[in-house]
Amino acid sequence: MRSVCVYCGSNSGTDPAFGEATRALANLLVARGIRIIYGGAALGLMGLLADTAMKAGGEVVGVLPQGLKDREIGHPGLTELHLVASMHERKAMMAELSEGFIALPGGIGTLEELIEIYTWGQLGLHRKPLGMLNVNGYYDALGAFLDHAVDSGFLHPQQRAVMRMEADPERLLEALGEPVPEPAVKWLDPQ
Ligand code: AMP
Repeated sequence: MRSVCVYCGSNSGTDPAFGEATRALANLLVARGIRIIYGGAALGLMGLLADTAMKAGGEVVGVLPQGLKDREIGHPGLTELHLVASMHERKAMMAELSEGFIALPGGIGTLEELIEIYTWGQLGLHRKPLGMLNVNGYYDALGAFLDHAVDSGFLHPQQRAVMRMEADPERLLEALGEPVPEPAVKWLDPQ
């Protein structure tokens, strides 16, 4: 992968491990020569991700809706900052520029972006890898929920397998290097 989209909180969260993992991931991506695509904000884990990667000499591309420029504070020191018209444009551009997707801990914005790109894969719109960096078990509950969705007959096991989860950034990158299972769109009730 030459570029990875990182979704993460516009807050820093309460556990210092969230920031440490953000720095570790940023440094790892830079060391591997992987360009980082993210939401363009200077706040929280988003800002920390960008600061760390830029300081390490990496390439960071931000994509920020014009309307959020003041609220989330557009990062002034990125390789590129694209100001777009809407959230939809933001997500589409981030997806286009990226060869894989990683979610660090974050709130509903992070969750929404990760789940949306997951559903795009289910629809066969892309075959790019994606996963969560499960810092101190932050995503245990989401992983358990996805298993519950499989058990309840709403999520194809093959599609469940697309969502990778690792506690360690290197292991997660390795997992994202594995082939992505076929989209399972054919698995629908016959009626
Ligand atoms: P959060 O995880 O809630 O701190 O949000 C992280 C990032 O996701 C922020 O840059 C939010 O602007 C962004 N975000 C929130 N909702 C959406 C959405 N519907 N589409 C795209 N980005 C979003």
